[in-house]
Amino acid sequence: MEEREAERTLQEVLAKISQREKRLTPQRIVLTRLIMSKVKDHPSLKDLYKDAQQDLPRVGISTVYNTIKMLESLGVLDTFMVGDKLHIDQPHPHINVVCLNTSTIFDIDDSIASQIFEELSRKGLKVRKVIVESYCDKGAQA
Ligand SMILES: [Zn+2]
Repeated sequence: MEEREAERTLQEVLAKISQREKRLTPQRIVLTRLIMSKVKDHPSLKDLYKDAQQDLPRVGISTVYNTIKMLESLGVLDTFMVGDKLHIDQPHPHINVVCLNTSTIFDIDDSIASQIFEELSRKGLKVRKVIVESYCDKGAQA
């Protein structure tokens, strides 16, 4: 069920790309499928580049980067930096928690998050992105 939904989303994204760009190369389809399937995991550009090389051994990192930026410009994903690394993210407002010890990123996307966003909305603020930088107890604290 989830897979079918992912496939439908992918088809919608591909339709958007071809409307905008006219040219939908096989490489771009493969990259779009890969990137869209991973967006919930917040992978970095480098992670995605490594994954992309499995299917596209000759792909350049700049092509992966450009595809991410194109998908961002279509509003189907978002990006943010952690240190010097670019990560992809789901485009709807939610809280991203980054652990700087382990480089893991997870979402808080529940009623607590909505309460914060509603509170800010009462102040006339529309939340675009929230990134919480944190340390777990597995490593030295800064
Ligand atoms: Zn996120």
